Amino acid sequence: MSWIRIALLVGCWSVAGAATGPVVIANAQLADGTGAALRKANIRVEGDRITAVGQFAPTAADHVIDAAGLVLAPGFIDIHNHSDGGLEKQPLAPTQISQGITTIILGPDGSSPWPVGAWLEQRRRNPASLNLAVMVGHATVREQVMGADYKRTARPAEIAAMAKLVEQAMGEGAIGLSSGVEYDVASYSNTDELVAVAAAAAKHGGFYMTHIRDEADKSFEALDEEIAIGERAHIPVEHSHIKLGTVKVWGRAPAYIRVIEAARQRGVDFLADCYPYNAWNSNIKVLVPDKQYENPASVARALADVGGANHVTIVGFTPEPSYNGHTLEDLAHSAGVSPVEMFIQIIRKGDAAGTEAIVICQSMTEPDIKAFYQQPWVMVASDGGIDAQHPRGAGTFPRVLGQYVREKKWLELPEAVRKMTSLPAKRLGWTDRGIVRPGAIADLVLFNPKTVRDRATFLHPETVSEGIETVFVNGVQVWSGGKPTGARPGRVLPK
Ligand SMILES: [Zn+2]
Repeated sequence: MSWIRIALLVGCWSVAGAATGPVVIANAQLADGTGAALRKANIRVEGDRITAVGQFAPTAADHVIDAAGLVLAPGFIDIHNHSDGGLEKQPLAPTQISQGITTIILGPDGSSPWPVGAWLEQRRRNPASLNLAVMVGHATVREQVMGADYKRTARPAEIAAMAKLVEQAMGEGAIGLSSGVEYDVASYSNTDELVAVAAAAAKHGGFYMTHIRDEADKSFEALDEEIAIGERAHIPVEHSHIKLGTVKVWGRAPAYIRVIEAARQRGVDFLADCYPYNAWNSNIKVLVPDKQYENPASVARALADVGGANHVTIVGFTPEPSYNGHTLEDLAHSAGVSPVEMFIQIIRKGDAAGTEAIVICQSMTEPDIKAFYQQPWVMVASDGGIDAQHPRGAGTFPRVLGQYVREKKWLELPEAVRKMTSLPAKRLGWTDRGIVRPGAIADLVLFNPKTVRDRATFLHPETVSEGIETVFVNGVQVWSGGKPTGARPGRVLPK
């Protein structure tokens, strides 16, 4: 299909949207995003806004959607989404809107598009089916300033230059600063550097979203550093994908939560997000905290820390695509070598090809995940996105509704919806999204609470979910009848 044809279709959609007049969604059970109990209510949408909520009768001018048996909720806001690379090719983002996601926050983990302003302009020219906002990445500005010479602490002048670039990005539309302190470029930064760049974002009303320095044995030290950054930079903190990822810290969620509660009581504005899976997805080097990737003792310790080589599955390795889908243990067994030797071979092959193996590592425990999800300050976020190599990219939100609400009963449905809507909106400082009330923007999702479920798996991570019936973005239907409508009403937020 030609570009012009697409543009025409999109044009027709917006015209049709305006011409059809008010829409009433009738007979739904409303989860309004605040956590309040479900109640039966009709809502009217006019243009991009919700104009009425309650027990009113539709008029002859209303187009009525009968939503009996369905739950109506604010559209889900995914505060940690990696679709920045995928939107250009897939602006309809079916794996995202099929989960009920209506807004994605991009540029997490310290890595963002650059320059931010030019990139946002491209997004405005080529809008997506859903809304987006972007963080400025700490590693991104660190690389701008230090180039290839980043494997050291930064000098004061370099830190000042980074802070200036953060301010520039905030001025161009970024909504906060992200960091990925565990990852290579940022791992050489010290706390003072992170405080300085976070303070630069705070000056412009931004928040600090962080993948902390360690999610394994040193999880508690890394948490202390994160809290110190929030306190010293006077900035709200969003803890990315909260987890306890090694044997040594398994089961310690209650202690971790106590540290966070104490900080919150001291006045640190601390929220966290959590994806509903017991396995993470990253590059293979993340497994070895001391970076001694070819040292058998370091590798052996790393594998033991995550519960063994059977917990590590290769899912993306271009030099040897046949490895994909197999655990390190299986690959070692087939090759007749030890898992440690197999690991080192994969590192060497990757280095020779200028790449790194992407792995799934099953290293979180269910009691810890449950404990985190039951905290009122923990929201749902995917850490996924378009083309994710992890099922969280297509399954996160329906998985929480299907497994954690309906099957395991860890959460009541209205509370789960709050964690997907008004709680992320609170962190973003948005009052007209993430809630159903007259005057709010009509980002909406209708789902069947009896059938909603994720279907994405580690081998088929793109399989779309079931039970999300209809999704509206800015008052326009983008998902209906199990597929995208083709409309692309998404905006760059918050402007
Ligand atoms: Zn991360």
